[in-house]
Order: sequence, then structure tokens, then C-alpha cells
Amino acid sequence: MPKIDRVGVGRGPFGVEWRDSCPSTNSELVRRAAELPDFAVLATDDQTAGRGRLDRVWSAPPGASLAISVFIRLDAAPADPQGLGWLPLLAGVAMTRAVRELGAECAGLKWPNDVLVRGRKISGVLTELTAHGVVIGSGLNTRMTEEQLPVPTATSLAIEGIVDVETDALLADRVLAAYLGALRDLVAQWREAPTGAALRPIVVPVLDTLGAAVRVDQPGLAPLRGVAEGLDDDGRLLVRSGEGSSPVVAVSAGDVTHLRYE
Ligand code: ATP
Repeated sequence: MPKIDRVGVGRGPFGVEWRDSCPSTNSELVRRAAELPDFAVLATDDQTAGRGRLDRVWSAPPGASLAISVFIRLDAAPADPQGLGWLPLLAGVAMTRAVRELGAECAGLKWPNDVLVRGRKISGVLTELTAHGVVIGSGLNTRMTEEQLPVPTATSLAIEGIVDVETDALLADRVLAAYLGALRDLVAQWREAPTGAALRPIVVPVLDTLGAAVRVDQPGLAPLRGVAEGLDDDGRLLVRSGEGSSPVVAVSAGDVTHLRYE
């Protein structure tokens, strides 16, 4: 059990509410959104009904993964709704920075917000909009062993040899400090200027998807194959589907596969 300062969710920045077990940290913050302060944090290492996008599940045995949800109040945010598209990306950047700080220097981002190490997923992010603000949920595989992996394409800090699971009693504290510190800085930058010009230079350096051959699967559409060339002003992925002057498609939602890892 981590030795974090359990000051309660009502305290705002870095007040972390820790649960020994929780069905879904995102669902709980979404339910309580009306009463939450900005940057309220709820975390557990035993999330029993974790959710991903499109009704997918995030699954991990107790103690093997950390679930961290953060509430960003929108009345403290810029009015421009287009700027909201950058928040999921910035959450991915925050987790990438945290995983690098913990020792996986090769960690990178797969658009929009999966954190990969050696092509395997170590963290996923689920961002949900409420009437009062945005809930940013992250799952990070910490002590998970090869035998516990829910999908063969996953990895963990332990599998990457970054943490010694026998001795690192403060692992959850270190993850929370690294991730929340990075996220706090990035949200402050987003509030100051929620624009492509300001945020693209923050995301691009960690975005492994850029320059990669990708396949994009979008519901109801034929798979799109091409090269990921950049991000537009709303954080959408720009994919060139052929050579030279062939069309560039802006992707706002979809499953991206880096083809070199297929
Ligand atoms: P993908 O990972 O295929 O790009 P996604 O971004 O929609 O999909 P998420 O919503 O972040 O994924 O997470 C759900 C998916 O992540 C599941 O469908 C499963 O493939 C994978 N998954 C579930 N649990 C874990 C875990 N503990 N570690 C890594 N991957 C997981």
C-alpha cells in the first residue's frame, strides 16, 4: 500500500484520494463531477471494472496496475471547445514523461494517448467530458508480470526491468508524483494557450506515431493506410494515404496501428 498523503479529494492540487479498491476511478469522478474541485485526484491499485474507449475494458489483477483519474474543471478552463481536443494528448504526454522519468527512456506516445515501450502498451488513457469538466483516467501497468498480461501487446514497469517489485515499496508514490507533476504543468500550459501553435511543439517530440506507416480503423469506414505526417490545430492526426500529392486525411478518432509493430 502506498504511503501517499491521503488528504482527501477536496483539497485540489495534489490532494490524492487513495482507494484500496475501486470499480472505476473514472466512473466515480464522473458521478461526483458537480462537487469536485479542480485537479481532484482519485487513485487505486485495484480497479475492478476499468473501462477503455468504445466499451473496451482495462483489466489488471489487484496490485499490478495503477488507475489514476484527474478532474479538470471547465469553468477554470478556456472557453474554446476546440482546445479540448488537446487534453487527451497532453495526458498521454504527461504519462510518457512519467514513464521516462521512472527509467523507461525509450517510452513514446502512440496517437492519441497510448504510451508504448518497445512497441508494447504500458499505459492507456480514457478522457470523459462531463457538464462540469473533464475526467482524465490513466492506467499504468506497474508490477504486472508476463503471466498476468491481459493482452500479449502489453508490458509493465516490472517487465521492462525498471522497478524491483520486491523492494520498491514507494512505487505508487513515485508514479503519482511524476505523472501528476507533469500533468499539472501541461494543463497550466493548455489553459494559457489551448492552440496548435502552442501545444504541437510539446506533443510532437514524444509522438512516435509521426513518420510511421500506420493503419487507422474507424467505425463504419474502410481502413486507412498511410504515413502519419503531423497534427492539425485541433490535435487531429494527419495521415497521407499515398505518395507525393496524395490526399491528407485528418483523423479525429480511430484505432491507430503502427505497422512496423504488426
Ligand atoms: P488500443 O490499445 O488497441 O489502441 P484503445 O486505445 O482504445 O485501443 P484503451 O481504451 O486505452 O485502448 O484500453 C482498452 C484496450 O487496451 C483493450 O481493448 C485491450 O486491448 C488493452 N488493455 C486492456 N487492459 C490492458 C492493460 N492492463 N495493459 C495494456 N493494455 C490493456
